[in-house]
Amino acid sequence: MGRTILILLGHPGAGKGTQARMIMGTLAIPQISTGDMLREAIADKTPFGCEAKAKMDAGELVSDAIVNGIVADRIQQEDCKNGFILDGYPRTVSQAETFRSQIGRGDCLSVIEIGADSERLRKEKRLVGRLMCPGCGEIYNQYSKVPKTDTICDICGKSLVHRSDDREDLILERFRTYREETFPLVKFYQDLGAYHQVDGMKPIYEVTKDILDIVNSVAACHNPPEEKRVRK
Ligand SMILES: [Zn+2]
Repeated sequence: MGRTILILLGHPGAGKGTQARMIMGTLAIPQISTGDMLREAIADKTPFGCEAKAKMDAGELVSDAIVNGIVADRIQQEDCKNGFILDGYPRTVSQAETFRSQIGRGDCLSVIEIGADSERLRKEKRLVGRLMCPGCGEIYNQYSKVPKTDTICDICGKSLVHRSDDREDLILERFRTYREETFPLVKFYQDLGAYHQVDGMKPIYEVTKDILDIVNSVAACHNPPEEKRVRK
């Protein structure tokens, strides 16, 4: 069986974080984010981690080669043996090209973009009402998913925070930046036949179901049941 590799792309406010958490639980694969990987590599003093730290200390950007190396190391770890969800990587076509060499023939790659509608987000106050837990990452909303006690996380008890860019007047700008940054990647994965889209404006559970349906259908064509396999 190959690994389930899921690359999630998401419009601002489409619920990428929420969906990643749902999928992680259901498929029992970890979500690995570039930021976390970088911090871990630096803390563990891996060769790539040391290179990254030197760059950051010098006020320089961490190069694609370093980021690629950190990801390659991370996905070799035991918890990724059945698959993983990537968050924030690949960010560029060059990273995507390198990452392609990490994918084996049996691996099932799905790139899923969670779409959102800026007008509806505004109406439904999805972004302005958003509260996040800095402890466990749980996501709440002042209008639709209210924590039990005021601004305290139901799960871990930490105080919830509001992201400073979750502002109504910044939504359009964030959508524009997102499209500009994401378009080349979308094109790259469309050409590979790995790109899919789901409607992030549906209720959370339906979006999760749509994502899982895609992941399962990709897995089914990579690993068809014995009797359906075409004889050569
Ligand atoms: Zn929490």
